[in-house]
Amino acid sequence: MSFESLGLMTELLRAVSEKGYSEPTPIQIQAIPPVLQGRDLMGGAQTGTGKTAGFTLPLLQRLMESNKATRGPRNVRALVLTPTRELAAQVGESVKIYGKHLPLESTIIFGGVKINPQIRTLRNGVDILVATPGRLLDHVQQNTVDLSQVEILVLDEADRMLDMGFIRDIRKLIARLPKQRQTLFFSATFSNEIKKLANELLKSPALIEVASRNTASERVTQVVHHVDKGRKRELLSHLIGANNWKQVLIFNRTKHGADRLTKQLKTDGITATAIHGNKSQGARTRALEEFKTGKVRVLVATDIAARGLDIDQLPHVVNFELPNVPEDYIHRIGRTGRAGNEGEAMSLVCVDELKLLSDIERLMKREIPKDTIPGYEPDPRIKAEPVQKQRGGQQGKASHNKRNTTARRPRSGNPALHANSNGNGRSRRNAKQASQRG
Ligand code: AMP
Repeated sequence: MSFESLGLMTELLRAVSEKGYSEPTPIQIQAIPPVLQGRDLMGGAQTGTGKTAGFTLPLLQRLMESNKATRGPRNVRALVLTPTRELAAQVGESVKIYGKHLPLESTIIFGGVKINPQIRTLRNGVDILVATPGRLLDHVQQNTVDLSQVEILVLDEADRMLDMGFIRDIRKLIARLPKQRQTLFFSATFSNEIKKLANELLKSPALIEVASRNTASERVTQVVHHVDKGRKRELLSHLIGANNWKQVLIFNRTKHGADRLTKQLKTDGITATAIHGNKSQGARTRALEEFKTGKVRVLVATDIAARGLDIDQLPHVVNFELPNVPEDYIHRIGRTGRAGNEGEAMSLVCVDELKLLSDIERLMKREIPKDTIPGYEPDPRIKAEPVQKQRGGQQGKASHNKRNTTARRPRSGNPALHANSNGNGRSRRNAKQASQRG
């Protein structure tokens, strides 16, 4: 199967070949033809499958075919909503890469940066807007963006947007769009809430699915190392050094923990940087760049910050701590083994986390191979303690716990369960922005 046979126009084929893709991925084979035909799409796909090109390529072609590209002032004709800034930045970059031979303008809009430059860009006119919901709604409310001419709407990682509490913002945004439009809906998981939203938005969509839900990529080798909590850091430094790993993404449950681990690794002589919601956008972009270019060996991330990160050929992911939400394990290890490459995902698991581990294995319907490293055998006298959750509630961990549905309705339920929604007294807006920053 070739990109040519999918019916893409020359300018797109050129961009794809310049990017170095020789053949389409399974999701691209399935998604491109129906989207080119103007159909709605419901895609069950995780990142790493090539889904961004799967929707971006035909979207660009549709915009060219509707032939308004070069006439009169530019209007936003395609809107892509993503849960996080990082994903928005990556999708925005893909739009630029794939569209580089086409006369279309695009921009990226997200929070945490100054709004005025965005207003100026929007005033100049763009065809394609990639945005996170919160900041886009700010623009809508200030009348600095007009969504009345949108022909194509893409909801990327819809499940994560709902988990992050964006549903009201999304509904408000959708209310501004023309009813007559093409809608492309992507989600890695399909809760009832997601199905309901998809039913409302999609008209007889083409259904496509790759790597069925809640399964991890076969290309990722997984292993659990049992180790005491107090010795994890030592074991980690040992593994990085002994295996001479050059690029490792490490997950921590909390921002504080991520910072502490980064500092400790540096003390061990391992170059490391952290990416999480307490960092400014500039610091996050810088951290990612340093990691991608190999200036630092280790990137320590929290779940939301890492969502959607696309790092070419990332060989190693380490769960320094298991996530509280089993689905996050799949998202985490999906950062490696992407687009046909092999990857390795290692989890350092202490006695406190055995319950989390069995939840993950139940979700994936498979056991992860276990191993202990000689010299790091767990001390059987150590008893399990409750797993520490994010302190201060800014991470959005609680609000993205799928079992805690009250988190999406901040006015009900136990505040302790979703401190970021209302437990710390901040407004819903602030809490949501904080979780967006995650
Ligand atoms: P995505 O799932 O969209 O985040 O894409 C995952 C990775 O696959 C990105 O690094 C893309 O650049 C890469 N990719 C997308 N399509 C192809 C393709 N047809 N051939 C090789 N790599 C691809």
